[in-house]
Amino acid sequence: MYTFEFHKPGSLDEAAAALAAEPEAKLIAGGQTLVPTLRQRLASPAALIDLAAIPGLNIIEQRDARLSIGAMARYAQIITSPLVRKLVPALAQLVEGIGDPLVRNRGTIGGSLCNSDPAADLPAAALALNATLHTNRRSIAAEDFFVDLFETALQPGEILTRIDITPPRRAGYAKFRNPASRYAVVGVFVADTVDGIRVAVTGAGPKVFRQHDFEAALTQQYDPAVLEDIAVSADGLNSDLHASAEYRANLVNVMARRAVNASL
Ligand SMILES: Cc1cc2nc3c(=O)[nH]c(=O)nc-3n(C[C@H](O)[C@H](O)[C@H](O)COP(=O)(O)OP(=O)(O)OC[C@H]3O[C@@H](n4cnc5c(N)ncnc54)[C@H](O)[C@@H]3O)c2cc1C
Repeated sequence: MYTFEFHKPGSLDEAAAALAAEPEAKLIAGGQTLVPTLRQRLASPAALIDLAAIPGLNIIEQRDARLSIGAMARYAQIITSPLVRKLVPALAQLVEGIGDPLVRNRGTIGGSLCNSDPAADLPAAALALNATLHTNRRSIAAEDFFVDLFETALQPGEILTRIDITPPRRAGYAKFRNPASRYAVVGVFVADTVDGIRVAVTGAGPKVFRQHDFEAALTQQYDPAVLEDIAVSADGLNSDLHASAEYRANLVNVMARRAVNASL
């Protein structure tokens, strides 16, 4: 490892001040993505600001009718939360399928969303569930949060604090996972929300996206069979050693039908 400063602020204000004082600093949550990145020298920030000691940042609670999950809530905490299981069971099921026990004990919902990895599972849930992401400065709709490959709408100095979700009437997630890492080769989250049916796809493109033609078909009839004949274009989809763009396009359809089935 190379030399860097390490800060462990006890409040959000202290964390924001530390970030302002050192613009090249990086926030660290569960470290499951950031630490390997440092080890491989893909990043070498002058300072790390650990969010783990900030009280309240990992709380899972109900705020009015919404499920509110603190950015520092770890995956294991989400999986075992009776509130998450009651209000959005599909989210608990999605998180159960992330990585391995080490990753689930350390990784956080905020770290995953802020990383905007194109193969991560949680961005699909956030987008399909029309979540609101709160920072130390403002609220951002999930629709506007994921900007591009590993790029979010967060501005320098901005810290994600919590994610609010209105419980859907029903929801389901299905992914075709990489057998080694369990990242999504393609994952589809389908949610029947107060804002209509929403279908979000991860793993297939440079960032999570909605599949609007599937949403229209499912609005007419909420049945996986209505998706069978809707072809997905391979244009712009990822192509790598795991799967070609054409294979991913087919997987989007298959995973969407499985996700609808899971929600029934
Ligand atoms: C072996 C392995 C398997 C994995 N498998 C999967 C999988 O199947 N599915 C999946 O989705 N993911 C998978 N992951 C990734 C895992 O989910 C990571 O935990 C996650 O991407 C990052 O969360 P973290 O809390 O560890 O964040 P960190 O690594 O600490 O941070 C990630 C990034 O987010 C920023 N950040 C963190 N918190 C905040 C905040 N509150 N505000 C602003 N910025 C913030 C950091 O500065 C950093 O840039 C895997 C990882 C490993 C190592």
